[in-house]
Amino acid sequence: MHLLQVSQLQKRYGDHEVVQNIDFHINQGECVALLGPNGAGKTTIIKMILDINKLTGGQILLNGKRHHQMRKFIGYLPQHPTFYPWMTGKELLAFLGGLSNIEKKTLEQRINELLELVGLGQVGNQLIATYSGGMKQRLGIAQALIHQPKLLIMDEPVSALDPLGRRDILELLKVIKLKSTILFSTHILHDAEELCDKMLIINKGRLLVNGSINQIIEQTQKPIFIIQAPRLSDWTHKLVNEDIVESIELTGNAAKVR
Ligand code: ADP
Repeated sequence: MHLLQVSQLQKRYGDHEVVQNIDFHINQGECVALLGPNGAGKTTIIKMILDINKLTGGQILLNGKRHHQMRKFIGYLPQHPTFYPWMTGKELLAFLGGLSNIEKKTLEQRINELLELVGLGQVGNQLIATYSGGMKQRLGIAQALIHQPKLLIMDEPVSALDPLGRRDILELLKVIKLKSTILFSTHILHDAEELCDKMLIINKGRLLVNGSINQIIEQTQKPIFIIQAPRLSDWTHKLVNEDIVESIELTGNAAKVR
């Protein structure tokens, strides 16, 4: 049984079909990238998985069951997390852990372990107001893991960071993925490729490609149309350079790969 099974997922706002009949699954232990340009529908899919947004159609199962409180089982780092700057890192984790009804002693120990894991062991007692962007992302990862979720979902966790900060967080995520199941949303192909074993490439609410890098390469032997995805077409260039695909035609923002 898959840890997460998404079937025929749909979201419509008025006439705008933002997510169109998407199917995919995530198995325990996998790190899956949700890759697509801005506006592709990544956040909408994530919010439906978390039960923050209602589904227009389809089904989402966790361990084969429908759940009404997905947040109990899923750790979530939103694209724009809000932290309370007047709290210390430790206080924030204690507050959130308290909301999850974790027993005090267990919680204290877990907070210390998590702060060490994300590299904030020395600054847990400092106000969040003094944290850099990268430190806040580290704290965001720790808060997402506080209730030992079955699945960790991160929405563009490194996109807002400078190149060094991005590298730091990617290295941290490589450690975290050894013990977690991850859905990692990004519009940056290299990050997806570096971190994840499997990719869901979406554009305009449609799932274009689903599989491991090798499977994707096999699929690209058939024509794939990627519209308005300059970064994805960068990648197709790379496939051409490595003789993996025959040719690529670019018309405006559209890429046709053979
Ligand atoms: P991504 O996360 O890939 O950047 P989003 O899921 O945020 O994409 O958005 C996908 C599309 O859905 C965009 O065209 C966006 O404008 C639209 N959208 C998102 N939320 C709403 C909403 N509440 N009402 C109407 N349209 C929305």
